[in-house]
Amino acid sequence: MGAPLVIVGTGLAGWTLAREFRKLDPNTPIVLVSRDEGAFYSKPMLSNALAGGRSPASLVTTPAAAAAEAIQATVLAQREVARIDTVARTVVLDDRVVPYRALVLAVGADPIRLPLQGDAGDRVYSVNDLVDYGRFHAALTTGAHVTLLGAGLIGCEFANDLAVAGYQVDVVDLAPLPLGRLVPERAGRAMQVALSAAGVGFHLGASVRAIHRDGARLVVELVQAGSMQAEPAQCRRLSTDIVLSAVGLRPRTALALAAGLTVDRGIVVDSALRTNASDVYALGDCAQVGGQVLPYVLPLMTCARALAKTLTGTPTDVVYPVMPVAVKTPAFPLSVVPAPQGIEGDWSFLESDGGLEGHFKDHEGRLQGFVLGGAATSRRAALVRAMGQTV
Ligand SMILES: Cc1cc2nc3c(=O)[nH]c(=O)nc-3n(C[C@H](O)[C@H](O)[C@H](O)COP(=O)(O)OP(=O)(O)OC[C@H]3O[C@@H](n4cnc5c(N)ncnc54)[C@H](O)[C@@H]3O)c2cc1C
Repeated sequence: MGAPLVIVGTGLAGWTLAREFRKLDPNTPIVLVSRDEGAFYSKPMLSNALAGGRSPASLVTTPAAAAAEAIQATVLAQREVARIDTVARTVVLDDRVVPYRALVLAVGADPIRLPLQGDAGDRVYSVNDLVDYGRFHAALTTGAHVTLLGAGLIGCEFANDLAVAGYQVDVVDLAPLPLGRLVPERAGRAMQVALSAAGVGFHLGASVRAIHRDGARLVVELVQAGSMQAEPAQCRRLSTDIVLSAVGLRPRTALALAAGLTVDRGIVVDSALRTNASDVYALGDCAQVGGQVLPYVLPLMTCARALAKTLTGTPTDVVYPVMPVAVKTPAFPLSVVPAPQGIEGDWSFLESDGGLEGHFKDHEGRLQGFVLGGAATSRRAALVRAMGQTV
């Protein structure tokens, strides 16, 4: 039968690749290795689950065994890959060595942890998988006050979800507006207005310096951005029950680095998702594809379809279509294609009946990005088409 295709990781990237590969090749054995349970679930649901009262178990779409059986694959769950040997072409687990004909790293990313002073570091949660969600869900008490660190996509989504689910929410971010890295100021301001109306408190241009225990509660010490050495009298203090950190993700690169693969911000791959080692590939949140780390679902699905073709004998470069990012905040949903880096141009906006539509055009008048908010998100398909015609 020969060595299998080995995929490390059973997130959306690992499972999507396995399914796409099986559509094109009914025979080659597939082995998925995962340090978690290996179940298939949609990670984006994690930041929209509390309002619907969803338990961690109810978020599983397909248990690992059933997902594996559907494509005649083998899942080695709750096993960590400790080492990759690109010369012997094996992955080394704690209880066995698995040979590969091709190896795909789909190992995801780790939440960034802020270096915080104080004695309550263990009360700072982050939610990047089902197990994390389970821990956070279990720690939330009815009507608790939650302090969210980070007002990016995941922070805003959790803020909205927690507020709808009946929790009190305060959000802290260094930036002056929410979603600063994703959307133009006008859209960030509209998000702040909508979430404030939903009951979310904002502490912007501020940084968390320390978190202290205070009986059963916590005290979060805030300082103005850039003044970490401020005197205690200049700090603001928030009394809270629990802290959720959503300050960003860092691609998991340690395994690749130790195996001699080229690593930069992510595992470096070319446009066909090849690393510098023969027959070793990477995709999803861990990968840096053509210089870009795109930690979203649409890019990884595009990559999985291209890689399945490459692995079944048709070398295929990844060509990304226009891929709007959806911010799932019911108070003010957004759909955005950010202005591309390195292209000069201007934003212009239209506002109507709870909707905001922004176009980013280059100096030749070509549409290079857009943002749609509220009711205007219904224009998503039209703008994707318009962009498809210009880029
Ligand atoms: C709360 C939240 C909301 C989001 N919302 C959206 C959204 O609305 N739209 C959108 O496009 N994107 C969204 N994203 C991002 C999107 O979910 C991710 O880009 C995507 O799920 C990443 O999938 P992945 O398979 O690359 O990584 P992961 O899902 O992190 O999977 C990594 C896998 O690797 C395994 N692994 C790691 N190291 C090892 C090892 N050494 N040995 C064995 N196994 C290992 C892990 O166990 C896991 O199975 C959201 C993310 C979060 C956290």
